[in-house]
Amino acid sequence: MSTIAEIIVKNLAIVRENIAAACRKSGRQPSEVTLVAVTKTVGPDAARALVEAGVTNLGENRVQELVNKAEALHDLPVRWHMIGHLQRNKVRKVLPLAQLIHSVDSLRLAHEINEQAGKLGRQARCLIEVNVSGEASKFGVPPDAVGPLLKEMATLEHIRIEGLMTMPPIAPDPELSRPYFRRLRELRDVLATEKQDNLDLKHLSMGMSQDYAVAVEEGATFVRVGTALFKGLSGG
Ligand SMILES: *Cc1c(COP(=O)(O)O)cnc(C)c1O
Repeated sequence: MSTIAEIIVKNLAIVRENIAAACRKSGRQPSEVTLVAVTKTVGPDAARALVEAGVTNLGENRVQELVNKAEALHDLPVRWHMIGHLQRNKVRKVLPLAQLIHSVDSLRLAHEINEQAGKLGRQARCLIEVNVSGEASKFGVPPDAVGPLLKEMATLEHIRIEGLMTMPPIAPDPELSRPYFRRLRELRDVLATEKQDNLDLKHLSMGMSQDYAVAVEEGATFVRVGTALFKGLSGG
């Protein structure tokens, strides 16, 4: 029997090695890629073990779960990421806790984030979620609408737009995700030529347990990995 910590240390080593291998393959540096460990399927104990193993960026897709885990791990130096769909009435709760919101998908949401960040006297760091595949079941802005949305967000002085995020369709083969990751990067490269005070499109948040290596090859700066880190834990 292995302890929670032993299982997590082993899984983490595998994930880090896969990221390093994808970097070698694509001529990138592992320091360009931040692992965001998605803790939504595990309790605070496993999340704590992960932080103690050296992961400092944790992600949750629900506001209440993020609030609960942030409270349970308040003694640790965690950088929290909000990666799931965000309702406007939850912005006030999540903003003081989250380092980065990966999932801005409308101008109305952006306005609310701007207003609440203003009250806190800071700038909220955001990514725009892009629905590259066009699946009806997915949140996110259609690729064609991202440019116009960025322009409309130009006047929101309490928001800093740092990049794009996407979730490709669930697929059995990670190679099937590659075209979606590539399109997100190409979209970013086009939009990055626009100049806007609150815009610096340096980040691409893409890749999950199934396809993070391919995402790194295609330029991901954040990979959001859950299942692969908790394999072998009951409930993970
Ligand atoms: C759950 C989730 C992930 C992680 O998925 P795994 O397949 O468990 O690695 C990444 N991004 C988002 C937005 C998620 O909701």
